[in-house]
Amino acid sequence: MLKESIVAQKNITEELKSLIRDIPDFPKKGIVFKDITTLLNDPVAFKAAVDQLAKKFENENIDQVVGIESRGFIFGAVLAYKLGAAFVPVRKKGKLPYKTKSVSYELEYGTDTLEIHEDAIPKKSRVLIVDDLLATGGTVQAVSKLVKSFGAQIAGVAFLVELTFLNGKNKIKDLPIYSVIEY
Ligand code: AMP
Repeated sequence: MLKESIVAQKNITEELKSLIRDIPDFPKKGIVFKDITTLLNDPVAFKAAVDQLAKKFENENIDQVVGIESRGFIFGAVLAYKLGAAFVPVRKKGKLPYKTKSVSYELEYGTDTLEIHEDAIPKKSRVLIVDDLLATGGTVQAVSKLVKSFGAQIAGVAFLVELTFLNGKNKIKDLPIYSVIEY
């Protein structure tokens, strides 16, 4: 378990990084999957990561945290609680029970569709979008378009991990991005 004394130090990023497990060739050949469950399994590290994200946005008057299915729910819900904000799930097509607004985006092969309940985000609310990991940026770009279509303001986009070599940031250039860990 990560030691509390280490968390008390200023830069704990390397310690958090050491708790993320690389799984080569998952879910397919050539992809190195960043397995965050090993970090989640360490209570001190999980708390430190959430605290770091919350600190970054505590003065941003966030009304709603929008969490992206499914690992974005883990950090999104805890962050919403900490920031005193509402939590809004973004789900894959067909999972939400009420009327939805949706956005489709390109994948390597074909397209995918994400949905939010049509009454979930009031106009002009300040939204923080959360996911576990920024890779190519396609997912978060689509979600940011969807959130903007509600007339909301995106106050920030937060990730536990950013794969900087994939330049996902370029797809959401206009938005303030924060990641706890960078590769
Ligand atoms: P992207 O749209 O390329 O930015 O992909 C982001 C989504 O895919 C996130 O929800 C991540 O959870 C997942 N993802 C993409 N690449 C990886 C990876 N190498 N390791 C773990 N998750 C990934």
